[in-house]
This record gives sequence, structure tokens and C-alpha cells, in this order.
Amino acid sequence: MQMYADIIVDITNEKLDRIFQYSIPSELRGELSVGTEVIVPFGNGNREISGYVVSFSEKTDYPLEKIKPVLKKAEKSVAIESKLVALAAWMKEQYGGTMIQALKTVLPIKRKESSQIKRKVRLLLSTKEAKEKLKFYQDKNQKARVRLLAGLIEQPEQDYELVTKKLNVTLAVIRSLKEQGVLALETQELFRGSVKYQKHEEEKIYLNEQQQQAAGRFWDDYSKGIYGTYLVYGITGSGKTEVYIEMIRRVIGQGRQVIVLIPEIALTYQTVLRFYSRFGDRVSVLNSRMSAGERYDQMERVKRGEVDVMIGPRSALFTPFGNLGLIVVDEEHESTYKSEQVPRYHARETAIARAKMERASVVLGSATPSLEAFFKCRIKDSVLLRLTKRAAGQRLPTVHTVDMREELKSGNRSIISDCLKEKVRERLKRGQQTMLFINRRGYAGFVSCRSCGYVVKCPHCDVSLSEHKGGKMVCHYCGHEEQAADKCPCCGSDCIGGFKAGTQQIEDIVKREFTDAVVLRMDMDTTKRKDSHAKILSAFSNGEADILIGTQMIVKGHDFPNVTLVGILAADMSLYSNDYRSGERTFELLTQAAGRAGRGEVSGEVVIQTYSPEHYSIRMAAKQDYEGFYEEEMRYRELMGYPPVSCLLAVLMTGADEEYLRIAASYLKGFAVRADKMRSLQIIGPASPYVNKVNDEYRRILYLKCGKKEILIQMKDLMEQYIEMNSGFQSIRIQFDLNPMRVF
Ligand code: ADP
Ligand code: ZN
Ligand code: ZN
Repeated sequence: MQMYADIIVDITNEKLDRIFQYSIPSELRGELSVGTEVIVPFGNGNREISGYVVSFSEKTDYPLEKIKPVLKKAEKSVAIESKLVALAAWMKEQYGGTMIQALKTVLPIKRKESSQIKRKVRLLLSTKEAKEKLKFYQDKNQKARVRLLAGLIEQPEQDYELVTKKLNVTLAVIRSLKEQGVLALETQELFRGSVKYQKHEEEKIYLNEQQQQAAGRFWDDYSKGIYGTYLVYGITGSGKTEVYIEMIRRVIGQGRQVIVLIPEIALTYQTVLRFYSRFGDRVSVLNSRMSAGERYDQMERVKRGEVDVMIGPRSALFTPFGNLGLIVVDEEHESTYKSEQVPRYHARETAIARAKMERASVVLGSATPSLEAFFKCRIKDSVLLRLTKRAAGQRLPTVHTVDMREELKSGNRSIISDCLKEKVRERLKRGQQTMLFINRRGYAGFVSCRSCGYVVKCPHCDVSLSEHKGGKMVCHYCGHEEQAADKCPCCGSDCIGGFKAGTQQIEDIVKREFTDAVVLRMDMDTTKRKDSHAKILSAFSNGEADILIGTQMIVKGHDFPNVTLVGILAADMSLYSNDYRSGERTFELLTQAAGRAGRGEVSGEVVIQTYSPEHYSIRMAAKQDYEGFYEEEMRYRELMGYPPVSCLLAVLMTGADEEYLRIAASYLKGFAVRADKMRSLQIIGPASPYVNKVNDEYRRILYLKCGKKEILIQMKDLMEQYIEMNSGFQSIRIQFDLNPMRVF
């Protein structure tokens, strides 16, 4: 019997992060379920706040007279499915934070949005009948009816909104004509956010042998009711998507549903179209540009059973399917799968947890698997499915490595090597296209003094400012802007300026070097406006430009058959980011960028320009040898005790008072040292992170390392309790990050 509802109240406060029991009044019996949002009286003043039902109890340990009743169901609330409540509990446990934060993460949309309804008015009479009726109204001098009917005789079907505005008639008039059988008022519910898609003939694709083997291996298990985790490790262009589609087709055939996670940046029209052409409008797509209403409508379709496949970025993982059978995580190595907000969950790990709870399988895919995913295959936690050949039989590109130090020695001071220049010219002559890839926007755009070494920093964030066009310097953390200095504020020298390697500068250099080439640039600045991203890509795809210059953005999601040359300008920039994943990130970027060359008939070439050609990330990327890279990188992770060999817990502390923060951080460290009775942890810091101050808030960071994840999670729980009990931590914000994607 439902007697008491166990409720998590909607207040983000560590101290209230526990269950409160409320009685269920008789009128609400049977109305509530796990996940329902309710309004309850809270605290001494009985303030009305909302909360979520997480379970029910028959008994309570509280004195009965103290128990308050649930007031009502929250208006316009969206129930979190009970399965997602369980997932939220798992996320809170793993990644820290409060239960309400976890619940809000799994809740796909916050509020019910009124759905858009389109109404039409349609004349039911023949023209002759209508004209007779018109005369009747005219005789009776019923002006509004005359206007309406005359309008409909002219155009027998019209939008309700248009009719009311243009003809100036009210709903009452329309209703009365409806009652007389003159017209029909029709409503049509429109689902917002549905992809407008025209079905077109796709040539049928027959899976090649490797693709069949991969899909077959998966199905061998699945059809026997064995659900697990699979890694499709396939080189770029090997046809991973076709393999997913085959697996999805079979899972859907069993009446189950599928979630496909794709990083936002790769979620292009082309990609989505491939799923639409197979599964029609039983596919739904989420993306971050959609409004709450659009998302709500798609979730409604899910609940009505109208959707079999949900495609989207990280948050699509929480689609409330009733019978989830498979989660595909494409490009699983992407760092955007990790949330930057509490709970800082990783979508790959969370997908595996959700699949276990709902007896579903997980398929991960990548050309450059994360060390975590490949390691799992080595320890037989997941099954490795390899695709080693390009699907349409194209050859892999030839890679050349250029040592930029040698280039400088031989007198070329340009950012473009002689080798690359020559190859670009060849392409221009042959009418083929080139992509020039630079590691990161503004990363090297910092302003420094060549005389004394002073670097201009943001006064609020302690990061270097980047030089932009028009003599401005900009902070990429908080947006602070100031006029570029013409003299060094430190030594007065005028040798101060930007290290010119941003995308804008490269565009200028390229235009000067290849005067007759049409050049497009794609980075954060040129893609601020909605659709500009797609516009640039399609212009390039249509052959409107010879050269596309860009950041990470140009690496993903698009196939350009006419691109036969990829130049990587600052290959090792990402090697120097003082981060344990920098080698992995560099290998990944180079391999993915190289994979853009020669996707069409003509085979491709890649030029990697680097100052450290001997580094294994660059050597292995040039050889396109993932497993060689994996072995080297794992040796380093083992030596240093980094994930995936060991686990790392970052404790990020933020506060406005630097000295107070420093003391609080050392207290927390002291507690961790004392609590670690078995000496199984390595405790590092607290230190100032790389970026010490953001928006005038100081930051300190503590790292805990341990071979066993469970021990770290226990320690996190203990620290959370300690923080909650000590009022000294009240003015400080503390966040946990398990296995962070970068060092702070
Ligand atoms: P990946 O995701 O591994 O980079 P895709 O699935 O995008 O590869 O496939 C690359 C290209 O090869 C696509 O244009 C796709 O249509 C084509 N392709 C994939 N599998 C086959 C196949 N079996 N036969 C012919 N073409 C294929
Ligand atoms: Zn100086
Ligand atoms: Zn700043």
C-alpha cells in the first residue's frame, strides 16, 4: 500500500540531500509514481516547494504528528521514469553532487510546454449552397457571418489564425457556423523539431565481409539474450555507421528501442539522413539548438511509442524508452561526452550503467578509441570488433612528416613548409581541394614580449589574452576585452605582439601565398550564427572554394570526396598543454584529420608539420598505427598511475577569498590523509590549477589517485560528509570530478 512518499526536495544544498517522507492524502492515492514531481510543504514556514518521488514506504520512523502531506502534483510536470531515477542514483554515487542535481540531469525537459496546434477552417458546402447561405446572412444583416462565409467562398480552406485576423471574426462566430454545418474546424497537432525529410532513393549498401562479421558477432550474443559492451574499432571510412545501422535494424526487429549518441559537432544533416533513409520517421533527433518545446514534443513521441531510434548528443542518453535494447556511442573518444556540470558524468560509462540496468547492449565506435575503451577489451570487459579496411576500397592516405626546425634552418620562416606549399599548388592546378587544419583557436594567439618574456593576462582569469583582429585582446574564459598594447607594460620594449598562429592569421598568410585560390575559414568566430557551420561546409562541398582552413570543427562528420590533401599546421601544439591526456588528444586529432584525405576516388596525401617529429604520438599518427600508440601511451599511464590503469579523483574548490580558500583546501587534504587509514591513496596538492582565477573566483585543486575505483568513491563520500558537517566550507564551492578529461 502506498502510504508514504519518499521525496527528494528541489533544493541544491548538501545538507538537504536526503529523503523526506510525506503522507499521501486519499485523493492522490494511485496518482503518484516514482519520478512524479509534487508540491510539498517544507520547513517551519511550510514553504511550498517541489520535489520528486523516489520511492514509497508503508512505514515511517518519524512521529506521525510530524509527517506532512503531499499537497498536489506539480502543474505541468514531467515524470522522470522510474528507471531513470535509478540511473540518477547511480550517477550521484559515482560522480558526486546531490540527488536533485542528478535527477535534473536525467530529466530530459524541465517543463511541459504547450504543444503547438494548427487549426484550419474548411467550408463544407458546395459553392451553390454557400452562396444561398450567404444571401440568408446578408438579409439578416449578420455582418461577421457574411465576412467569414464570403472569405471561405473565395478560398474554401484557411488557417484559423488567418481567418480570425484577416476577416476579423471571433471564435464564437466560427463555432456557430460549425454548428450549422457550414464549416469544419479542424485541429492538427504539429510535432515541433521533427526533421523535415524527403525520402529519396538510396543505393542499397551490402555490408562487406568485415562489416558482416562485426554485426554478426554482436548478433550471436544478442539473439541469445547475452547483453554486453562492444567496441567497433574501425579506421576512418571503414563503414562503422553501416555496421551500427545493421545492428539497430535487428534490435528494432525485436520490438526494442535504440539510442545513438553522436557528438554535436558530427551531428550533421548528412549523418542524420543516413538514419532517416533506413528508418524513416521512426527516427528522432535531439540537438542543443532545439527549444524546450521542440524537445518536449520529441519526448512525447517517444512516450507514445512513435520512435524507435533517438539520435543526439550526450543528453539523448536519458531518452525515456520503455524497452531500450541498444545504446550506440559513436566517436566514443570525444571529450564532449564528459559533462562539465555536476554531476560530471561520462556518457560512455553512464551508457554502460544504464544498459546493465535495462538488459541492453552498448556498442562503442571509434577510429581512435579512448584508452579506456581499448583497455576494457584487453581485460575482456568488452568485445573488440575490428574494421581494418576502408569500406569503398579507397586506399589510406600517404603521410609526410615535416620537421619545422629544419625548415627554419634552411631559411623558410613561413608557417607553411615548402613541402606543403608545393602540394597545395599541385592541387590548385588539378582542381582538387585542400584542408588546412590548425589545432585550436587562439591557442597560440597569446601576446608576449620578445624582449623580457612578459605575457599579457586577463585581470580576472589569470589566462593569457588572445590577439584578435582590430587591435583587441580577448579573454577566452570570461570574454574580457582590452586594447592591444604597443609597448610592453613590464620593460617598455616595443617588441610586443601576438604569436601569429590563429586561424585568422593563417587565412591571411594562405591568401597571400596562393593569390588565385578561393579560401574559406571555419572556426568559432565564423560559425557564431545559426547555420553558418552548415553553410561553410556545404559551400566547400559544392566546390565553391579550393582551400578550407579550420580548427577541430572541420575534422568531423563530413565527407569531401574532392579533398586529396590535408595539411596539419601546428601538429604538436596540443602536446604542450600540460595534461596527462595530451598525447592521446594529439594522436587522435592527427589521425582524424588525416582520415579526411582521399575519401573519394583519388587517393590522398597528408602533411604533418611538427617541431617534435620524434614524439610517439606524432610518429604513430604518421604511421596510422593505433595499437602502437596504445602500447606506448599505456606504458606512460602505468608509470604515472593515470587512468585507465589507475583512477583519479579531482576535487575542485572555488572561493572569492584566496587565503580562506587556501586554508580550507589544506583542511580538506588533512582530512583525506587521516581518513586514508590503509594508505591506499596518493594525495596530490592542493595546488593552484593551471587557470587560477575565473570571474574573480580563486580555484584550488586536490588530486586523489588509487588503483581501485571503489576506494576513491568511498573517500569522496567521506569528504562530502566532512564538508557538510563543517560550516567552515559554506562559502566555498566544492566539486568532484572522477577521471577528469583534462588537468585543471
Ligand atoms: P566511418 O563511420 O567508419 O568513417 P562510414 O560508415 O561513414 O565510415 O562509411 C564511409 C563511406 O563508405 C560512406 O560513404 C558509406 O556510405 C560507404 N560505405 C560503408 N559501407 C559500405 C559498403 N559495405 N559498401 C559500399 N560503401 C560503403
Ligand atoms: Zn617586455
Ligand atoms: Zn577572463
